[in-house]
Amino acid sequence: MSSLNLSPKDIYNEKLLSNVHPKDWVNPEPEPIYNLVVLGAGTAGLISAIITASLGGKVALVEKDLMGGDCLNVGCVPSKSIIKSARVAHIIKNAEKYGFENHTFSSLDFEKIMERMRKIRADISHNDSVKRYSELGVNVFLGKGHFVGDNSIEVDGKILKFKKAVIATGARAVAPNIPGLKESGYLTNENIFNLQKLPGHLLVIGGGPIGCELAQSFKRFGAKVTIVQHSRILPREDIEAASIIEDVLKNDGVEILTNSKVAEVKLLENGKKLVTVQTVDGSSSKNIEIDEILAAAGRAPNVEGLNLDMVNVDYDLREGVKVNDYLQTTNKNIYAAGDCCMKWKFTHAADAAAQIVIQNALFKGRKRLSSLVMPWCTYTDPEVAHVGMYKEEAVSQGIEVEHFKFDMNENDRAQADGETIGFVKVMVKKGTDKILGATIVAAHAGEMINEFTIAIVNNIGLGKLANVIHPYPTQSEAIKRVSGLYNKSRLTPRVAKILKWWFKFQRR
Ligand SMILES: Cc1cc2nc3c(=O)[nH]c(=O)nc-3n(C[C@H](O)[C@H](O)[C@H](O)COP(=O)(O)OP(=O)(O)OC[C@H]3O[C@@H](n4cnc5c(N)ncnc54)[C@H](O)[C@@H]3O)c2cc1C
Repeated sequence: MSSLNLSPKDIYNEKLLSNVHPKDWVNPEPEPIYNLVVLGAGTAGLISAIITASLGGKVALVEKDLMGGDCLNVGCVPSKSIIKSARVAHIIKNAEKYGFENHTFSSLDFEKIMERMRKIRADISHNDSVKRYSELGVNVFLGKGHFVGDNSIEVDGKILKFKKAVIATGARAVAPNIPGLKESGYLTNENIFNLQKLPGHLLVIGGGPIGCELAQSFKRFGAKVTIVQHSRILPREDIEAASIIEDVLKNDGVEILTNSKVAEVKLLENGKKLVTVQTVDGSSSKNIEIDEILAAAGRAPNVEGLNLDMVNVDYDLREGVKVNDYLQTTNKNIYAAGDCCMKWKFTHAADAAAQIVIQNALFKGRKRLSSLVMPWCTYTDPEVAHVGMYKEEAVSQGIEVEHFKFDMNENDRAQADGETIGFVKVMVKKGTDKILGATIVAAHAGEMINEFTIAIVNNIGLGKLANVIHPYPTQSEAIKRVSGLYNKSRLTPRVAKILKWWFKFQRR
């Protein structure tokens, strides 16, 4: 991402830039020494800086590009904004289902959809702005920072001395090494939100969360979309959940080529690209002519150019900065948080990690990353949300498990909303109601998963969730119903016999 690449140069992007990288910003004179210097002003960096300042510490925040990092500028915010438009497009297209006859779908305006996204992004951006952070006591330095000594970072010719530092430099999209890809040109999350014209045919390399979310949206806007994926769609997700999403995407009209790879790309004279897609085992291949390629098949941590070797911070070009469970690097005064060092590449994970860093770096805390219960969500329609363990993890730890599942098509509200695809599935430790993990596929799974996260964090068993009253009709009632299934499973033949006897006795 680069502020210079942000386009078009309309009022919304001007407003965004004036907040997150103002042209006329003059870096302050550094304090003699900071409690904390933070490299990178994405979620992890912003949270680290704001907490330190609010507690009265001296803190400097260094950002080479746009405050807000990926999430605000080229990640969560723009993607979720266009996903909303895509959901609306889908509803309009299927309006007959809701009782609207002779409805037409001719007025979708991709330019307007992207303009709406840019407006939302610009409107939100004051939260992460240079002005707001400065007013809250953070010394903001715009420029590329790097270590110049064990206790100092240089940015824009100024030396920032620190007691502790946090590396929060995030990650970036990496394009696979495919002959002809670079020469033909491709999109990543860093420039796809600049588009103003809907591509006729978009080929998405990668069927992970980012690939699936954007593929579905672009299909719903009217583009032809092909996903090429090495294995199955959403390979890290529950297999049943992933297969529902595969079916939904196919029903939407997305072409999905699983167990396949892009072998070569050629730029044609008419500006289109000829892509050779091969099955992974090489048994077959085909050529597809497309307009644009979105590379969504991997992310690399931003660890280069920071002088990490000089300050004895170990790192790996794939895994990122090496940290222990306290988020401390191999240099005891330097910590790291967020996408540059963690396997959980989510905004809320970066936020939670920053809070750990503050406790450990500034207050000699011993808070562990592994103590976090981390939910996540893929915002396809329906969404897929998960928290806790998957079956394979439990089995590998020798834990015996039981599953309880409730289908969304049995939920009254889902019926009323026409959103019946999906399920709520919970895994408990066998013979107990201890919740080990949960997966939800539902229109608003990201909202619903919180109930299971609260239960896991607070050690509330599945049996207890059955007693929690949920308003009728809500989709989250499905959680109460799945908990009810657990309680029903406790109805042993012996208890059933006793109940039978009791009722017979009452009828005397
Ligand atoms: C398309 C897309 C959609 C996503 N959707 C979601 C979602 O819905 N929910 C969710 O939880 N997560 C989502 N994510 C992931 C989320 O955006 C990241 O996990 C989050 O932004 C990580 O925050 P971070 O602070 O670690 O890094 P970043 O946000 O990447 O910030 C790092 C910052 O460091 C700066 N920097 C790097 N090097 C230097 C240097 N040397 N000097 C100064 N500054 C430097 C960068 O310019 C950047 O601003 C999405 C990501 C993408 C790409």
